[in-house]
Amino acid sequence: MGVEIEQLTKVYDGKVKALDGVQMTAESGVLGLLGPNGSGKTTLMSIMATLLDPSSGTIRVDGLDVRTKKPEIRKRIGYLPQDVGLYPNLTVQETLDYMGLLYHLDDTRDRQDRIERALQRMNLTHLRDRQIQTLSGGMRQRVALAQAVLPQPSVLIVDEPTAGLDPEERIRVRSLFADLARDCLIVLSTHIVADIEAVASSLAVLRFGTLRFFGTPEELLNSLEGRVWMVDAPVGNRPKEMAEGFLETGLFRTREGIQLRGVCETRPCSDAVTADPNLEDGYVWLMAREHHA
Ligand code: ADP
Repeated sequence: MGVEIEQLTKVYDGKVKALDGVQMTAESGVLGLLGPNGSGKTTLMSIMATLLDPSSGTIRVDGLDVRTKKPEIRKRIGYLPQDVGLYPNLTVQETLDYMGLLYHLDDTRDRQDRIERALQRMNLTHLRDRQIQTLSGGMRQRVALAQAVLPQPSVLIVDEPTAGLDPEERIRVRSLFADLARDCLIVLSTHIVADIEAVASSLAVLRFGTLRFFGTPEELLNSLEGRVWMVDAPVGNRPKEMAEGFLETGLFRTREGIQLRGVCETRPCSDAVTADPNLEDGYVWLMAREHHA
């Protein structure tokens, strides 16, 4: 079950290669699709959601081929594009009721039970009578998620769910995915490592339509073991010259000054100390490498 992606290629207008030979599988948990803008995430998700046909290769959702089983797949997936249009004048409750009817949840009692559960899970119960237009971006995103889980999809596809949210809302929306992933596979795209840092059970890193890495976050971290370094410098001073080949992955303020962080095959300067790799290190490192992982 889950999703299987095989040699997936998508060429727009005969010239823009948005995806090139992408291959991966995921059964449960959260599959994080990570990559900069233009790397092919939306294209991949649109194909998965049967809104776009592949140029070659295919995706199977719960064993069903996106080329030939569109209606069957649509019954099994929830898809949240970047801009979900919600009616501004409807209340949260009315929105969910309306969406439930669109999903053919025709039994009133069953529909209400599902709405109640979705409101609770998304922490929206206290907002049920509020009109959509009075809600913050994060609240709207939670309503969008609540409507997407009403039909109890086996795969929930979410495109850049934290785009445009303020930091507090972002944290709140992120934490929902861990909960939702108990019931379905979540495919979540983002260009922000922190969005998937804590929740991804598998990670696909895309660049220019090719897969730079596919595996568990732990596998990516393990591949960097002993190659991540930190150097301290007093306030106002940039840390000293680093060895060639040092790839900066972060610059932080500490109480004493500034701390520079980066990836390097060998100790980049005499007072550098090794650090535990994190996914941001891994992502920057993958983006900087010339060839496929
Ligand atoms: P991401 O979601 O990672 O930002 P996209 O899948 O939107 O990436 O885009 C991947 C590439 O395909 C980009 O070069 C983009 O310009 C191109 N692209 C996306 N949609 C279309 C389209 N409808 N027609 C032509 N090119 C497109």
